[in-house]
Amino acid sequence: AKVKVAVNGYGTIGKRVADAVALQDDMEVIGISKTKPNFEAQVAALKGYDIYVPETSKEAFAKAGLKVAGTIEEMIEKADIVVDCTPGKIGVTNKALYEKAGVKAIWQGGESKDVCPISFNAEANYDQAYGADFVRVVSCNTTGLCRAIFPLDQKYGVEKVRVTIVRRAGDPGDIKTGPIDALVLDPVKLPSHHGPDVKTIMPHINITSAAIKAPTTFMHLHVLNIKLKKDCTADDVKKLFQSRPRIKLIDGGISSTAEIIEFGRDLGRSRNDMWESCVFKDSVSIDDGELYFFQAIHQESDVVPENVDAIRSMMKLEMDNLKSIEKTNKAMGIGL
Ligand code: NAD
Repeated sequence: AKVKVAVNGYGTIGKRVADAVALQDDMEVIGISKTKPNFEAQVAALKGYDIYVPETSKEAFAKAGLKVAGTIEEMIEKADIVVDCTPGKIGVTNKALYEKAGVKAIWQGGESKDVCPISFNAEANYDQAYGADFVRVVSCNTTGLCRAIFPLDQKYGVEKVRVTIVRRAGDPGDIKTGPIDALVLDPVKLPSHHGPDVKTIMPHINITSAAIKAPTTFMHLHVLNIKLKKDCTADDVKKLFQSRPRIKLIDGGISSTAEIIEFGRDLGRSRNDMWESCVFKDSVSIDDGELYFFQAIHQESDVVPENVDAIRSMMKLEMDNLKSIEKTNKAMGIGL
């Protein structure tokens, strides 16, 4: 039987996780939750997902002509595992609900690392989540950092990572977030939280981060400088990145996040998602023995395949992380 997955919170991340789970042959979406009968709920209904709502929202859904399958509590009862995609800091308030129902749960990177003992990245620590009840898939930025740092550390040993993150201020559908004309130090006091978040996956990595919020919606951009323990050339690093399942080397004259998203559109990808970390190929350089490169991170989608792999690990569907990654990638069209 397929693993029964419920998606609690159907926004930017939740709708993508639902679609990604629906593409796998070893798991199925038994329901999604919505609080309001808005356009996203209409699309969920068109896609055939069973919609579960808070008891207090039933009337509004009925008025909007949207069929409701039951309450969120009833959805959780039916599931083997819940992927909680509610906004950051809300997810943790659902923990008691999951514990009471005896259901496994995955939180997203907007929750504090303290929501559960295991933070997750499919390449770096899949084994730690094997059979676990509660896991947090780290944020979009931390996921992107782990995907680059893990293989470099395995092959050459990482002595020190320094990263500056230029963050997108809001997602494309977000009409509330700014700034619209400023670069905002985020935070002013250094370092930012991103370095410590990488350490929840790879505690031994020496990393310092700084972050700036910029008025753009497409992607985050990382400026990386890494001191490696062993010597290597820029070509060695390009080859290493090329060999990884969730890194895409970007060339073809692309020098911006806007063109990467246009590339995603031209590839015909669902919602123009770029699930891979996008490393600018020609930026990969060694200077005075240190590695430099730029990578762009599509914040709306890079954590989505990680959630699928986390389900596989927690539900013991696959022991080998590379096999799970390959299966997820194939079903979603990642790497094409
Ligand atoms: P979102 O605001 O787009 O979606 C959240 C959804 O949850 C909304 O549809 C909202 O109505 C619903 N919701 C709110 N309270 C609820 C409740 N109590 N029960 C059920 N549903 C509820 O948020 P998002 O961007 O998808 O973020 C979700 C999580 O993923 C956060 O932890 C966030 O930090 C993390 N994350 C976001 C991004 C990103 O760039 N958007 C990237 C990586 C991780």
